[in-house]
Amino acid sequence: MKNIPYARQYVDSKDIKAVIDVLRSDYITQGPRIGEFEKKVADYCEVKYAVAFNSGTSALHAACFAAGIKKGDEAVTSPISFAASSNCVLYCGGKPKFADILEGAVSIDPVEILKSITKKTKAIIPVDYAGHPAELKEIRKIALRHNLIVIEDGAHALGAEYRGRKVGSCRYSDMTILSFHAVKHVTTGEGGMVLTNSRDFYNMLVMFRSHGITRDRHVLIDKNKDWWFYEMHLLGFNYRITDIQCALGLSQMDKLDVFINKRRKIAGFYKRSLSGIDEVSYLEEKKYVRSSWHIFPVRIKNNRDKIFDKLKVAGIGTNIHYIPIYLHPYYKKLGYKKGLCPRAEKYYDETLTLPLYPAMSDSEVIRVIKVIRKIMRGVTGSSFGQVPSRAR
Ligand SMILES: *Cc1c(COP(=O)(O)O)cnc(C)c1O
Repeated sequence: MKNIPYARQYVDSKDIKAVIDVLRSDYITQGPRIGEFEKKVADYCEVKYAVAFNSGTSALHAACFAAGIKKGDEAVTSPISFAASSNCVLYCGGKPKFADILEGAVSIDPVEILKSITKKTKAIIPVDYAGHPAELKEIRKIALRHNLIVIEDGAHALGAEYRGRKVGSCRYSDMTILSFHAVKHVTTGEGGMVLTNSRDFYNMLVMFRSHGITRDRHVLIDKNKDWWFYEMHLLGFNYRITDIQCALGLSQMDKLDVFINKRRKIAGFYKRSLSGIDEVSYLEEKKYVRSSWHIFPVRIKNNRDKIFDKLKVAGIGTNIHYIPIYLHPYYKKLGYKKGLCPRAEKYYDETLTLPLYPAMSDSEVIRVIKVIRKIMRGVTGSSFGQVPSRAR
């Protein structure tokens, strides 16, 4: 039987045609598709400004730069995330502080954020883990009280909703970043974006993306020059995305709602099928949240490693999201120590991500569940009744 991966992109003939059209056009980079893609995502998320980048990581770097994070500053983020969520602080010379996760929700705990805030704190970087928005309203309140900037890492959460608004609307954040890596909801191969309602952040992000150079009349210091004139204002990078990638992104955006509905359906089936197994728990959607289910992590009380290995042998792709960032050797060398966030560390020991992607067939989903039940029976000795039918 074919292996089932834990994640996979969905690219159809329309996507392929869109890319080919750009390759035949005048601009393969710095052309019109970039602005069109930015506008399409901004409209979808109901936000004023969008700046596309060549990765979610460069988008995070740019957001931290725009937030003014520099040497000596601190920013608070979640340990249960991809390393980029805190690396971006290091890029700017700042120091990441890790606040422990909420029990159950797996996003950063506002109470722990409060404990991590010092005079040096400049920003909070909440992560919308698995597609479930973090406790953004409470985090916003803390940020307002302590004069902090909120950079929401929404790499998992394009299409998710929080209190009636789309992630990326920046209702409770100053900037929200997205990723378009192949496993994310919408892909450009590699790619990312920063969304914001602030004109100032927008100007800074656009400059940072391209060497710190501007041609914008409103931004130029010397305004009485010819049309070709440009000025470098800050030390930016080449973090530009191409028109080739944005054409793919534009075409992918047409399918976003279909992708999310499919992901939600699979997640719903997993939940129904696992609800009778005591040893296994999964993320619950809060009533003010609509998750976009980027991944489906389950929590297994005992024997996670044994079950991980058995799934692999059965040809079912799994993954661990995530190793607490500060437990990586690079962070340990910076002085972070085991025991810093006990809830995150316990979560890491117990979590395992099941396959979830839009092209997953019914029979593949059922196969995953059947294999898990069989493994759990072998490991725990209990049985769990029928696999529910998908029709419900
Ligand atoms: C994917 C991801 C990013 C950005 O990663 P890129 O691969 O650089 O696009 C950032 N944070 C989280 C939580 C992610 O999952």
